[in-house]
Amino acid sequence: MVVKEPQAEPASDALKTALAQFDTAADRLGLDDGIRMVLRHCKRELAVHFPVRMDNGTVAEFSGYRVQHNLARGPAKGGLRYNLNVSLDEVRALAMWMTWKSAVVNIPYGGAKGGVIVNPKLLSEREIENLTRRYATEISIIIGPNEDIPAPDMGTDARIMAWIMDTISMHRGYTEAGVVTGKPVSVGGTLGRAEATGRGLLYIVQEAARQFGLALEGATVAVQGFGNVGAVAAQLLRRAGATIVAVSDSSGAIHNGNGLDIDALMPHSRDHTPLTQAKEADQITNAELLALPVDFLIPAALEGQIHDGNAGDVRARYVVEGANGPTTPEADAVLAGNGIVLIPDILANAGGVIVSYFEWVQDLQFYFWEEDEVNERLHRVITRAYRDVSAMAEKNGITMREAAMMLGVSRVVEATRIRGIYP
Ligand code: NAD
Repeated sequence: MVVKEPQAEPASDALKTALAQFDTAADRLGLDDGIRMVLRHCKRELAVHFPVRMDNGTVAEFSGYRVQHNLARGPAKGGLRYNLNVSLDEVRALAMWMTWKSAVVNIPYGGAKGGVIVNPKLLSEREIENLTRRYATEISIIIGPNEDIPAPDMGTDARIMAWIMDTISMHRGYTEAGVVTGKPVSVGGTLGRAEATGRGLLYIVQEAARQFGLALEGATVAVQGFGNVGAVAAQLLRRAGATIVAVSDSSGAIHNGNGLDIDALMPHSRDHTPLTQAKEADQITNAELLALPVDFLIPAALEGQIHDGNAGDVRARYVVEGANGPTTPEADAVLAGNGIVLIPDILANAGGVIVSYFEWVQDLQFYFWEEDEVNERLHRVITRAYRDVSAMAEKNGITMREAAMMLGVSRVVEATRIRGIYP
């Protein structure tokens, strides 16, 4: 068989990281070149450039993407990012991670991701709505409940998901609730989705504490990023008895060795006022936060935050990845060498996609669950995935990242092989 690399070398660090992680798993699994080529590339990549009418009457041009990495195990699933740093390569990496994540937690989805190059903080509510509805129209040719189901990610929220759902529904002439997840509950969203990623992190930390014989009561935690993921994780861990000694956002970090009052800080997460304006805490830098001697360090902001330049400074016992791709492969090696256990993104932050799956199932059945049921099922699915990954790591004497990647990739390979090559 002739194996041809159809794509240029990756330009973004995120894609380099995603491919390096895949290559390690592929080596361990002994995959042949053919299947490697299929899985190293995204199946569909849509780039869109579109005009948006601004409040002052002018027209601005925006660019965005929707990328589907793999559909072997089911419809594509993945978030939608509004951020100035969005690039095609970053979206490819994030789509690839979604494929492995859905496979690790064993839900029937492939991986996708989308993004628009924009700073949403500089747009009015109406401009964001105009941008969202036009972007949704541009990508409507590849999204749908059976095809590809977007969800919130950095810079997007439930309100934006409602506009996408409404736009697609207007085109189709009927309400298509299952086209996006992370919607408000009043329009087909599920109870428990807003907190799902943070809650999943809580369940993962609880399971790790149980495995390693560590009491969560009084355990110290530092969280980088105080958004949908980081703030909720901090709040739930605080309620479970942990002491949150530091949190940060893009303005900087705050620290209190006796524990921060996370409930009092939650408004900063909702209205995006800088955390550094909070009183009763010392200001530290984001770099200092990453180097605190805590039990659990939770990077929940951006990619590439723990790298070869600062991994040696990390003094946490466990790193639990709330963000996607916060640790580079070089940093992984340094952390492992220093005896720090890392619980990888595709397992640790999978609570969001698991509860998105529950939302989609409820939308397709027009039958909605109680919040307890959502949380209980989330607990069951993510705890089982943790135990599968941890058993794989122990059996092979490898890190939790390598084990999660091996498990995710092997499930996708199995589905791809069983389906065969069309025609
Ligand atoms: P968000 O936009 O709600 O929050 C991001 C937070 O990170 C904000 O507090 C922001 O100020 C902070 N931040 C930005 N740059 C920073 C920097 N340089 N240093 C410190 N903090 C910084 O986004 P989110 O939805 O919480 O997503 C965060 C990460 O989690 C992303 O990697 C995302 O892909 C991932 N993730 C999100 C979900 C979800 O359900 N929202 C699910 C899985 C993974």
